[in-house]
Amino acid sequence: MATIATVENLRAYYIVKAVGGVTVSEIKAVDNVSFEVRENEVLGIAGESGCGKSTLMKVMYGLIAPPLTVKGGSVHYFFEGRKVDLIGADRKTLNRIWWKYISYIPQGSMNVLNPTMRVKDQFLDVLRAHIRRLDEEEAEDMILKHIESMGLPREVYTSFPHQLSGGMRQRVVIALATILKPKVILADEPTTALDVVVQRGVLQLLRRVQKELRNTLVVVTHDMGVHAQIADRMIIMYAGKVVEIGPVDKVFEEPLHPYTKYLIQSLPKIGDKTLRKGIPGKPPSLENPPPGCRFYPRCPRVMDVCKVEEPEMVEVEPMHYVACHLVR
Ligand code: ATP
Ligand code: SF4
Ligand code: MG
Repeated sequence: MATIATVENLRAYYIVKAVGGVTVSEIKAVDNVSFEVRENEVLGIAGESGCGKSTLMKVMYGLIAPPLTVKGGSVHYFFEGRKVDLIGADRKTLNRIWWKYISYIPQGSMNVLNPTMRVKDQFLDVLRAHIRRLDEEEAEDMILKHIESMGLPREVYTSFPHQLSGGMRQRVVIALATILKPKVILADEPTTALDVVVQRGVLQLLRRVQKELRNTLVVVTHDMGVHAQIADRMIIMYAGKVVEIGPVDKVFEEPLHPYTKYLIQSLPKIGDKTLRKGIPGKPPSLENPPPGCRFYPRCPRVMDVCKVEEPEMVEVEPMHYVACHLVR
């Protein structure tokens, strides 16, 4: 499968400044992260709250504004034979690629719809920005068909967001994100705020859309049950770092990183009402993360080397990578 995007040695920090513009702290939310994204795959990104998942999504979409700063590394996309440097892209370039090549479903996106605009007008705005000489009648027809294909009733078209349920609003957000058939969809916790039944419907919708468009879906969620259902490959993040990458079945059946093992054991799965054992301890501060392996204060397998030397990412078997001294 061809590569659609590469993230290389990416460092994205929140710079917290005091009066006078002096940097007082840096939150190393994404710290030297590298991976690639393939065409026609569902790539899941997992990890506890605060490990940098949303920050990574923002940077991959090009939403980089203070206090968020890219301190190093790159994000490149490969669209129709052209290499696009996302970090260096100006606003004009971003406007050209947003919606049409990359779309973004932000965390809490049920609330990103403009409350003062009818659904119809939010769609027309997106289409106007990308289609020159838009025939409004044709466009309306296209939007209506698209909305219906998302399992939404026709009335949604002329509704205001507040007239819709949470699940319907999320479907509208997905419909908006897919109307121009983008090559890459970045979805940040797209189902987290929904109840279990609605969640399942939205997941099925996302998966179906990805299959139909044969594009790439990068889906962020801390819910391992969601990954098990939808992802082809997975990335596990811990405290601003990527610690494991692999095909979803490998990650679930033979997790290599002690943190991944904990995640699989402890995170609730869809519909699972039993209380599972949490991971002991807390993730470190991203302002002053521990040296060496960031997981060492919580790791049951910690060795001396872990406290001083950062483990490198190693390919243990084809497509399955881990950053842990145990595999050396
Ligand atoms: P969650 O699962 O809770 O959504 P996440 O993995 O998406 O978490 P991020 O939102 O990327 O995590 O946050 C990573 C780190 O950056 C956290 O320590 C967070 O407190 C910090 N952070 C996020 N936004 C800001 C901001 N605007 N200013 C300063 N620090 C921030
Ligand atoms: Fe545990 Fe050491 Fe592996 Fe880190 S490198 S996960 S501390 S064994
Ligand atoms: Mg988040």
